Amino acid sequence: MTIKNSLKQLPNEKGYFGSFGGRYVSETLMPLILEVEKEYNKIKNDNNFKKELDHYMKTYVGRPSPLFFAKRITKDLNGPKIYFKRDELNHTGAHKINNCMGQILLAKRMGKKRIIAETGAGQHGVATATVCALFGLPCIVYMGEKDIKRQSPNVFRMKLLGAEIRSVTTGSKSLKDAMNEALRDWVTNVKDTFYIIGTAAGPHPYPAMVRDFQSVIGEEVREQILDAENRLPDLLIACIGGGSNALGLFHEFLDDKQIEMIAVEAAGHGLESGAHAASLSGGKPGILHGNKTYLLQSQDGQIDEAHSISAGLDYPGIGPEHSYLFEQKRVQYMSATDKEAIEAFQYCCNLEGIIPALEPSHALAVLKKIAKHYSKDKIVVMNMCGRGDKDIFTIAEELNIKL
Ligand SMILES: *Cc1c(COP(=O)(O)O)cnc(C)c1O
Repeated sequence: MTIKNSLKQLPNEKGYFGSFGGRYVSETLMPLILEVEKEYNKIKNDNNFKKELDHYMKTYVGRPSPLFFAKRITKDLNGPKIYFKRDELNHTGAHKINNCMGQILLAKRMGKKRIIAETGAGQHGVATATVCALFGLPCIVYMGEKDIKRQSPNVFRMKLLGAEIRSVTTGSKSLKDAMNEALRDWVTNVKDTFYIIGTAAGPHPYPAMVRDFQSVIGEEVREQILDAENRLPDLLIACIGGGSNALGLFHEFLDDKQIEMIAVEAAGHGLESGAHAASLSGGKPGILHGNKTYLLQSQDGQIDEAHSISAGLDYPGIGPEHSYLFEQKRVQYMSATDKEAIEAFQYCCNLEGIIPALEPSHALAVLKKIAKHYSKDKIVVMNMCGRGDKDIFTIAEELNIKL
């Protein structure tokens, strides 16, 4: 069935979601990007590729991830029925591996011999290093000097997995600069290198490709909720850094107009403080990393530094599809502060026995606030996109606990 003006058909052939997205790259990068696009279009409808991907998703990643009814939180909030999509149970502890598995299989088909990636918190770096070890390909991860210091457990994990970490000392020494360096590496190693981007951003086709690989989340949810409740949910909610786990949950349901969607940005110390990572609530359109999208920027267009307690949300931009869904008002964008996220983190540990990552704790914080507006017959699905093992040191520091 084709739906007129389907939101699922985007982007257009030039990579635009409305006025956002596109391909703003140098001439030297263009042939590489076009090659990725051509090969991606080939495998999209290739049953052999799908079979191979499904095989690894099932036997290595551990999909499908369960849909869990969070009974005690539901009871405590006295509002809608709350389900968690448990993508934190994936191998390596977050949704990132869904995308990495897809991209490395594509890289293999293209005969690429060397993989590069950028990482902020290190979750994408770990997932990339993992699939590189799995397929015996060398892996180079660009990471800001600042992030290397504050994410040392993940740096060590990447090294154990055989990856080489390259410290980036330019600019703010964090994720934005790591991505710049990775793009630079790609241009200088044209022939043999594949760049695995970690979120639904970058030049076309990356935003669409990453979203497509993550869409397995929502596809599973549709089946699982029909099984459990015999109907579709009323509300979907997820956190957003670049926006890939949220799109992974939402994409399947974009044309189900009755389903409400909320994406939660990191408000850091508060939107009015200036120290936050809420690109939509606090930014304006500009161009970064090869696409047009909402960005945190100063009056004269300099990219501002983002702040969030959760390193995975600490990015001054957002995937272009979100900018479009924001302006179309298909998805509602809200935010939660560091403090609210920590409270929700503890709440989830205590009530459900699940230690969530700080990123989805932002989504839970908003859900806690709005639950009272939904009646008991409503159904909510929240994406539990990562586990909190990586965050225990941050939490201990925030709560003044010595480990
Ligand atoms: C990387 C990461 C995010 C942010 O990335 P998105 O592309 O917005 O999903 C959120 N949660 C976790 C657990 C992450 O590792």
